[in-house]
Amino acid sequence: MIILKTTRELSLMRDAGRIAAEALLRTGEAVKPGMTTQELNQVAHDFIIKAGAVPTFLHYNGFPASACISVNDEVIHGIPGKRVLRDGDIVSIDLGATYRGYVGDTAATFAVGAFSEEDERLCRVTRESLHLGIAAAVPDGRLGDVSAAVQKHCEENGYSLVREYTGHGVGKDLHEDPSVPNVGTQGRGLWLRAGMTIAIEPMVNAGKAAIRVLPDGWTVLTADKQKSAHFEHTIAITPNGPVIMTSV
Ligand code: MG
Repeated sequence: MIILKTTRELSLMRDAGRIAAEALLRTGEAVKPGMTTQELNQVAHDFIIKAGAVPTFLHYNGFPASACISVNDEVIHGIPGKRVLRDGDIVSIDLGATYRGYVGDTAATFAVGAFSEEDERLCRVTRESLHLGIAAAVPDGRLGDVSAAVQKHCEENGYSLVREYTGHGVGKDLHEDPSVPNVGTQGRGLWLRAGMTIAIEPMVNAGKAAIRVLPDGWTVLTADKQKSAHFEHTIAITPNGPVIMTSV
């Protein structure tokens, strides 16, 4: 069931989104060679707590940390730990903040040290595809318009989209209906309505689309070991068009 939000709820979601966005920004700024993924998780955790929010991901379905931190060929759901980031890595940080009962969910991929030209392009195209998907999220549009906009831009640039994981509705719960695929057909799918709040989150592989999951039950990797990027915003569909909740 899709839960439409009231204006008051959208204002609360904007507050949660602002905290999540700032936590992501601060954590991204902290990324540097020599740092462990656990240290990065701590930056995210501490910021969210200090802002008076709850780290949404911590203990969610048993996830053991406040941020998912996924390096290079890890697509999503990487568990922070002792892994040391090295110059030339890319690191995807995905986090959520729950504030006054509402969730903001956002992610981005950052360079560790200097960006290689090809990694910069992968991340740029993934971010662009997110924003093309957001632009398509308008009242009386279709969910397939969002998915198709994301898919078209990534595939035109020679990249692959992960099918097994999708964006989602978000509100009081981290995951609400509907699921928001990153592949689809324009003019198809459910009708978009003002008051819907969704997380759009393309997971884009430099190589092929196939993924595998580590025995830890969480970490999703590309099957071909090529790199993957992940950008996500929580947005609201309003009568005036899409509004990004997870901006600072
Ligand atoms: Mg999400």
